[in-house]
Amino acid sequence: MTAVRGLAAMSKGAAFVTHDFARRDVGAHDVLIDIAFAGICHSDIHQVREEWGPALFPMVPGHEIAGVVRSVGSSVTKFAVGDHIGVGVFIDSCRKCEPCKAGLEQYCNEGMTGTYNTLERDGVTVAMGGYSNVFVVNEDYAVKIPKSLPLDGVAPLLCAGITLYSPLKHWNAGPGKKVAVMGLGGLGHMGVKFAHALGAHVTVLSHSPSKREDALAMGADEFIAVADPKDLKAYGRTFDLILNTVSAQIDINAYLATLKIDGTLVVIGLPGAPYPVHVGSLLDGRKSLAGSMIGGIAQTQEMIDFSAKHSIVSDVEVISADYVDTAYERTVASDVKYRFVIDASTI
Ligand code: NAP
Ligand code: ZN
Ligand code: ZN
Repeated sequence: MTAVRGLAAMSKGAAFVTHDFARRDVGAHDVLIDIAFAGICHSDIHQVREEWGPALFPMVPGHEIAGVVRSVGSSVTKFAVGDHIGVGVFIDSCRKCEPCKAGLEQYCNEGMTGTYNTLERDGVTVAMGGYSNVFVVNEDYAVKIPKSLPLDGVAPLLCAGITLYSPLKHWNAGPGKKVAVMGLGGLGHMGVKFAHALGAHVTVLSHSPSKREDALAMGADEFIAVADPKDLKAYGRTFDLILNTVSAQIDINAYLATLKIDGTLVVIGLPGAPYPVHVGSLLDGRKSLAGSMIGGIAQTQEMIDFSAKHSIVSDVEVISADYVDTAYERTVASDVKYRFVIDASTI
């Protein structure tokens, strides 16, 4: 077994403590990673606080992992010692179903195997995530990171990045398209950068007026401060595509009114409780309400390569292990600029 030091919540909502545990030995198809940085995703917070239902404790969260390959199994072909490598939200899937074969492993018919807070496919091992110093993963579920990208800024691409890149590509964001991003947090700021790089006209819809300058610097063409849904009245039928990254429950109906005819609002934020939708908002304009969840391995690699080509990384605040509890509080308060990333050497 491989000895690991991580940061764990021992029970629901508990403060983080150092936690020693073991990972499996490096198998023939596995890669051993020295983790350099792990991003803090709001999904980590939802799960530690059991906002999505009962969770497994002790929990070592973290699914935005960037590091360096320390060793490889005997059959590994994709990676060599010293390569930069990334691991995201899942570490396995059935590999046999239609979605898996189509590169949509995140939608595996048997369910993807999450990076933490789940049992691995053996049905016994509790998956432990990236708030730790060492990781072992099957090479098919990791991506290559070009050395031109800094590992701290690249870590959040493994979840926040792909989660916005995938729907932007699926709904053809590009020149001539008006894209709005709801919420300028970890996910939202990556959406702005990618939509801008794809050539779309980008508007940020935010409840934090202080983020205006940052949004424009990231590539947004417009910034609309939304203190109240009625602030959107002037923007009826404006957007082709809206990506909702808001982590809290909000009134979605006022936003649907800002879609053009045939426009789509994609739900990405997952507060955990249902919210009402007036279907009349969809009928009037043949609008679609859709959802999207991260992206497959091939598209994650495509997103990383796109980021290298366009010099895109996340705006990060690198923190040490003792700051994670504070980082959670600040993230929930929408006070994150724009992703907290844990320096794994401090664990
Ligand atoms: P985050 O960094 O906390 O950003 C969320 C943003 O939402 C905040 O910065 C804020 O932006 C806005 N917001 C928060 N509370 C609000 C409120 N009460 N009213 C209006 N706006 C509010 O979170 P994240 O890591 O980007 O994650 C966002 C959501 O996506 C989470 O629910 C997470 O679980 C989910 N997620 C989904 C996927 C997927 O595959 N679909 C993947 C990863 C994460 P402003 O200050 O600009 O308003
Ligand atoms: Zn995430
Ligand atoms: Zn499958």
